[in-house]
Amino acid sequence: MTQTVQQWLQAARQQLAQTVPANEASIEAQLLLMHVLNVNRAWLLAHATDVVPDEQALAFTHLWQRRVQGEPIAYILGYREFFGLKLKVTPDTLIPRPDTETLVEAALQKITQHMQVLDLGTGTGAIALAVAQYAPQSHVTAADASQAALNVAAANLQSLQFGNVTLRLSNWFSALTDQTFDLIVSNPPYIESADHHLTQGDLRFEPMSALAAGADGLADIRQIIAQAPAYLNQGGWLMLEHGYNQAEAVQRLYETAGFCHIQTLRDLGDNPRVTLAQWLPG
Ligand code: GLN
Repeated sequence: MTQTVQQWLQAARQQLAQTVPANEASIEAQLLLMHVLNVNRAWLLAHATDVVPDEQALAFTHLWQRRVQGEPIAYILGYREFFGLKLKVTPDTLIPRPDTETLVEAALQKITQHMQVLDLGTGTGAIALAVAQYAPQSHVTAADASQAALNVAAANLQSLQFGNVTLRLSNWFSALTDQTFDLIVSNPPYIESADHHLTQGDLRFEPMSALAAGADGLADIRQIIAQAPAYLNQGGWLMLEHGYNQAEAVQRLYETAGFCHIQTLRDLGDNPRVTLAQWLPG
């Protein structure tokens, strides 16, 4: 079957529309064909009437079928853009989300000079690498409890060639007992373990350990807030992403642990998404 770029895109779009909204189906069809042909969007538009060779047409068909079955586009493509960085992602890592850019922006605002920054549960390295790029005078330690996730972060660090990032295998603070930090950031798991979202959409394919955190979703956040003071320098900040309905609970956890200047920030969708606080004992 000899068909053109335009015709293949049309066919894919129709199939994808079973799974994703129409406007996304169109973009995803383009992304998948760009991936198979190893070209950019401008090329696709300029070559709309070119015939797609059989081998690539078949590969394209396989990719859209995976997507129709629900597999996240980021895992099929093998990358996701975050804060202007093209990051490798695999099913060993959470797929970086635009909501998390709120956390990166808040972190960059706090970084004034050379600072020791820690990213707990780094996954692809998204937060750590975005901070490292825009705060080149700081040093970022990126920790994860999963060696498989850390391998993905290592691949991203390798391709970006940042000199100010260190990767550590650590279950939250377990392997970091020799260090203290000026700023600790984290996007930990925070979904309630019975939340039905875990069985829908992309989340079905993502590592459960990166998503769910006990009955109230706060198990990991509780642990991080309780332990962080031992790893924060005087005046240092802890900054956590959390669920849209968890801001008050997280604020209370900070208060209980003795933090001050507690503040919650909203994400691009106007949901309370990040709560930060300062460690200023005495
Ligand atoms: N914000 C993500 C979601 O709801 C969850 C990410 C996380 O648990 N850290 O899909």
